[in-house]
Amino acid sequence: MSLVNIKCPNCGASIQLDNSRESGFCSYCGSKVQIQEAINKIKIDRTGDIKNYLSIGQAAEEAGNGQEACDYANKILEIDPQNAEGWYLKMSGTGCMPGYNC
Ligand SMILES: [Zn+2]
Repeated sequence: MSLVNIKCPNCGASIQLDNSRESGFCSYCGSKVQIQEAINKIKIDRTGDIKNYLSIGQAAEEAGNGQEACDYANKILEIDPQNAEGWYLKMSGTGCMPGYNC
């Protein structure tokens, strides 16, 4: 088992629950929390982050700032190592770094 940080869907509090179980109870408001559902929700929330990083990274790349584009690509890949757009940004960002022909 391991504890995961989950947002209570009822009161929005940050709670820690055992991710090997199906459900648990919020220690603040006492409502029942579906743990797997809550974990999936967190992943969906991160998709918004990926989109943000991607648009900032692409803007940086267009401005010729390869280092910054790479930094954002790395942030995307930390969240989702399979993200194709993240890898693409990382590659094109690397190509824009000093010493490379952009
Ligand atoms: Zn709660």
